[in-house]
Amino acid sequence: MRIFKFGGASVKDAAGIRNVHEVLKFTGYDDVLLVVSAMGKTTNALEAVVNNYFNKSASLQASIQEVKKYHNQILLDLFDDEKHAVFTDVSRLFGDMDYFLSHNKSPNYNFVYDQIVSFGELVSTTIISHFMQSVGIKNQWIDVRNFIKTDATYRDAGVDWEQTQKNISKNVKKKALNITQGFLGSDENGFTTTLGREGSDYTAAIFAYCLGAESVTIWKDVPGVMNADPRYFDKAVLLNQISYREAIELAFYGASVIHPKTLQPLQKKEIPLYVKSFVDPKLPGTSVSKGADLEPYTPCFIVKRNQLLISLSSIDFEFIMEENISDIFALLHKYRMKVSLIQNSAISFSVCVEDKFGNFNDLKTVLARKFKVAYNENVSLYTIRHFTDQAARLISDNKTVLLRQISRETMQIVTKES
Ligand code: ASP
Ligand code: MG
Repeated sequence: MRIFKFGGASVKDAAGIRNVHEVLKFTGYDDVLLVVSAMGKTTNALEAVVNNYFNKSASLQASIQEVKKYHNQILLDLFDDEKHAVFTDVSRLFGDMDYFLSHNKSPNYNFVYDQIVSFGELVSTTIISHFMQSVGIKNQWIDVRNFIKTDATYRDAGVDWEQTQKNISKNVKKKALNITQGFLGSDENGFTTTLGREGSDYTAAIFAYCLGAESVTIWKDVPGVMNADPRYFDKAVLLNQISYREAIELAFYGASVIHPKTLQPLQKKEIPLYVKSFVDPKLPGTSVSKGADLEPYTPCFIVKRNQLLISLSSIDFEFIMEENISDIFALLHKYRMKVSLIQNSAISFSVCVEDKFGNFNDLKTVLARKFKVAYNENVSLYTIRHFTDQAARLISDNKTVLLRQISRETMQIVTKES
């Protein structure tokens, strides 16, 4: 079986969905599992719904209407017959969402977030499944929540591999086209969970691992994995073939083409990953597989914006030693800060982190009891894999460099955003 993942950008309108059909005609679809994200920017729009709900904002209804209207327009563009069952199915899903919002008693933001945001994927796959049926491609719509079981860490759920493996081995229909949702799972009590933003690639990898799939293809609006984000670097080039190791490094440092958790399950079973263009499926794209990197090492540039640089020093010039460092890490973990760089000297310790969950103020208070805390908000972290002098200059020229770290293959530079 082959696993195909289509992200939000690939299904952002009726033309996008028709294009998925074109891609399937080109690749074949007899033994394929399609993992699909929410359409376009739906996840962001549903996040706004959740925020409006919690803030008791007057725009709650308007934000819900916006999501419904967007999908309804796509339905009208795709289906001539307004009596088609897809209209009922989609309005039933949105009805479930309304019902949840008017009956929910949970004050847990992350829980509510997952229950609401998941409708993006449920609706998108419902529409696509019906559309494929309508153009003569028989398929099986599956509710991923019956397959991927997770813990109850809402918005960042951890996979229960054993249960998931059992469900997938037993119930995924081989020799068919299956269509399912990326990003979602469910916990022990059957509540919806999500795997973290952009988690649909990871969903594809979970299925691939559990099925021992032949390959995973991520269909993108770029020709493949580039050495830099073409939106920011005008001389970006395609990497034709890279090893799992290199891809894991790139994803780890924040290359956004592949979700970082995606590679490990694939690497374990040596399942090749292809990143290809949904605009032109004939192009070779990038292949990520076992073995040597065939690339001459092109410098690769990765930017993470909106980072926080925290520098801690001891109040009384005491050295920052193992014990302090371990306390600091326990706190970073507790406050769910994603660490992207560490640097220490005798009496100071710096970390570059991403405050995804808005916990920095609380963390700062706790840290200040033991350390002098200095910080810069809204910094950018640039990583250059296989750096050269020229590559480094490209980044640091005209910017205030706050910190620089060099290892054998990688240079990292933290800069102030001007
Ligand atoms: N729809 C989710 C998101 O936008 C998951 C994904 O696209 O991979 O984060
Ligand atoms: Mg998305």
